Amino acid sequence: MISFYPGPSKVHEEIPEYVKYAYRKGILSINHRSAEFMRICERTVALLKEKLDIPQDYKIFFTGSATECWEIIAQSVVSKRSYHIYNGAFGQKWYEYSNRIRSGARQFPFDREELPNVNKYKFGSGDGVICVTHNETSNGTQLPEEFIRDLKDNNPNHLLAVDATSSMAGVALNFELADIWFASVQKCFGLPAGLAVLVCSPKAMEVVEKINDRNFYNSLPFMNDMMEKWQTPFTPNVLNIYLLMRVLENSKPIALVDEKIRKRYRKWVKYFEGKQTLNHLIRNKAAHSFTVLPIAASEAAITKLKRDAKEKGFLLGEGYGDLKSTTFRIANFPALKKKEIEKLKNFLDTY
Ligand SMILES: *Cc1c(COP(=O)(O)O)cnc(C)c1O
Repeated sequence: MISFYPGPSKVHEEIPEYVKYAYRKGILSINHRSAEFMRICERTVALLKEKLDIPQDYKIFFTGSATECWEIIAQSVVSKRSYHIYNGAFGQKWYEYSNRIRSGARQFPFDREELPNVNKYKFGSGDGVICVTHNETSNGTQLPEEFIRDLKDNNPNHLLAVDATSSMAGVALNFELADIWFASVQKCFGLPAGLAVLVCSPKAMEVVEKINDRNFYNSLPFMNDMMEKWQTPFTPNVLNIYLLMRVLENSKPIALVDEKIRKRYRKWVKYFEGKQTLNHLIRNKAAHSFTVLPIAASEAAITKLKRDAKEKGFLLGEGYGDLKSTTFRIANFPALKKKEIEKLKNFLDTY
């Protein structure tokens, strides 16, 4: 079975070998206070910065999921207000999680066919946290880099937090443009679920220190104290951190990965432009995600296609929420091989 699911997604094919190696070397049982773990943690952070082009003065933390990052931000970074600009299910969930923890969350939904107009989002001189989803996995849209840049310029006193769960490690991100970025690893990183990476700018860390929330096991000031020693407050997902290190060691610099992903995206778009029965869900190309393709068709066609795909050995992503019966999604993640994409196209040719 080849998985084109946009998360959890196909893992890099070297993973079984790395797991076996980790088992043989006793890494599966190392103590998270040991020098050995600290070396792995330090090296993984260094590799993330090197391969993804993250500024050296940004801090990196390991959490269990992107959902946990939503909660950590609400607890440790938001003092009162958060502003959620979104067009899909993940952005909306982030708003809901934040609002349960800090009731001062505000939501600004926009249409998935539209690029949001940045001049609508001027939040005054307060010190809130603006929350955006870089790549909305549920409907296959993404925000342009200029939007993120202008949003920050329009709101210099606020922090900007970006959910990049289905784009980090797939496309090049300009980390300088925002204060907080995060992603779980079961999407573009091509790793098994159960780990996420949280990236914070020096300015974000200043705010974290000022608020100094220490009420929770995952309060950021605690995490920061422990990370000074390349440790975490709790026993982390040591295996997955190790696997992340090994995968990054073999990864090309993000600029090259980005090029490959964009090229494949353009080929997919061309492919669907040539088809009658299957269409990209989003008509506005400027809003297209490079890493997740949502494909729309009639309900009857989708039902048949999903069933046939399974029989032929392809796992396609379900449509999300109210799009479930009329769409499916295709991941365009780095771990997928050219050959596998060709096979899927051959299968889709019959539709
Ligand atoms: C998958 C996803 C999440 C949730 O990730 P978890 O690791 O399951 O918490 C959040 N945001 C976006 C954009 C996602 O694609």
